[in-house]
Amino acid sequence: MPEPLIFERSSPGRQAATIPSAEVPTVAVEHVLPERFLRRDLPLPEVSELDVVRHFTRLSQKNACIDTTFYPLGSCTMKYNPKINEDVARLPGFARIHPYQPIEMVQGALQLMYELQEYLAEISGMDAVTLQPAAGAHGELTGMLMIRAYHTERGETGRSRVLIPDSAHGTNPATAKMVGYTVQSIPSDSRGNLDLAALRRAVGPDVAALMITIPSTFGLFDEQILDVIGAIHEVGGLVYGDGANMNAMLGQARFGDLGVDVMHFNLHKTFTTPHGGGGPPAGPVAVKAHLAPYLPVPVVARRQAPDGSVEYYLDYDRPRSIGKIRAFYGNFGMLVRAYTYIRSMGAEGLQAVGEAAVLNANYLMERLKGAYDLYVDRRCKHEFVLSARRQRRTTGVRALDIAKRLIDYGFHPPTIYFPIVVEEALMIEPTETESIETLDEFAEAMLAIAREAEENPELVKQAPHTTEIGRLDEVAAVRRPNLRWKPA
Ligand SMILES: *Cc1c(COP(=O)(O)O)cnc(C)c1O
Repeated sequence: MPEPLIFERSSPGRQAATIPSAEVPTVAVEHVLPERFLRRDLPLPEVSELDVVRHFTRLSQKNACIDTTFYPLGSCTMKYNPKINEDVARLPGFARIHPYQPIEMVQGALQLMYELQEYLAEISGMDAVTLQPAAGAHGELTGMLMIRAYHTERGETGRSRVLIPDSAHGTNPATAKMVGYTVQSIPSDSRGNLDLAALRRAVGPDVAALMITIPSTFGLFDEQILDVIGAIHEVGGLVYGDGANMNAMLGQARFGDLGVDVMHFNLHKTFTTPHGGGGPPAGPVAVKAHLAPYLPVPVVARRQAPDGSVEYYLDYDRPRSIGKIRAFYGNFGMLVRAYTYIRSMGAEGLQAVGEAAVLNANYLMERLKGAYDLYVDRRCKHEFVLSARRQRRTTGVRALDIAKRLIDYGFHPPTIYFPIVVEEALMIEPTETESIETLDEFAEAMLAIAREAEENPELVKQAPHTTEIGRLDEVAAVRRPNLRWKPA
């Protein structure tokens, strides 16, 4: 039986908090808010403190989250969120500062930001970093605006095309378009690399940039990446590297060394900060020196104070900057968390992340590739893409059904139907933090579902069976969303 909702527990006069009587004269609400904004009929529940706490605790338990469930999403994966990140972000010196405080009062915060810029530059092999973008997509926008500023300043205004692999995350073409470019999709070859011949046919003097995800959203490291990047540079274009998911790269290979000109990180994917309902994201952008003049203002910088000591400051004196892309300086609390993670891992720890991310993904891929079709059978990086086309053809069971059935087995489903070029795609990223026992449990569930699909396809098609709400009418959910509880 579903638990009563908090509104249904309401009892007149019951309250959760007692407010002491005021020591100053009180003002009727009508004198503060215009009458038309007041709702006298608002049926707010009258409940006790315990009712409120239990209501929200129960709601939180209905969410699948990384703290309760293996979460092998793929591409947009949230990794584990170390609790030390939360401790450090809550230190009053970080949590209680205000962006309007004078820089003399927030030297520690500025130092943290400066050092995080330096760490990200070192990890990626780039020269300069801005921490401001509020998400990966916002980082892409920032990077592409810098690419446009670079070409414009050189008088190369005829560059109008941006090339993007067909496996790309949808934000790549959307960003290129927002910045005013036309987008040309480049196919992948049979090994999951960018089709180099097709790329060579597509390049020309009107190409502004290539946006390429490394490793690709197939979870593959392009075997011809140096030739790909070279082909763009030969015609004077720039290379935008999408580094949203770079766990497998940590300590192994660097975007800058490959020749990438500008890239973004997703702190909420690779660097363990929460995302989704867990908090605002952050998408820092790193550039090579030739793009550094265009970085958004302010840049967190370091100089010598008159008394000889080191001083951190916000540099607004950058005439070629693309300007401001966000209020204040970024999602500071997320920067504290990523900084804490990097400092607590150290260089060797981050290198071990790269190794374990690849090991875990390949282990799972090997266990599953007999029961499901594999998009490309070769060593993957942090993730791999299965296809349920075999199941669909023989039993009618689709990737969606398999994802729903996984919920019954206690797992968060992987990303499905992406990359869009893979039929019935199931994209799985185990992450480096999971134990072999968890990987085995997940593999057993996936293998069991493959058997169920053959023996009892209806069981899979009607999943999930264990949740309060089963299959939603997905079209109706989009067209006529019902997001609010209303009294009967
Ligand atoms: C998640 C992701 C993005 C976009 O990042 P957001 O923070 O969601 O805006 C871009 N590219 C790739 C490959 C991603 O996985």
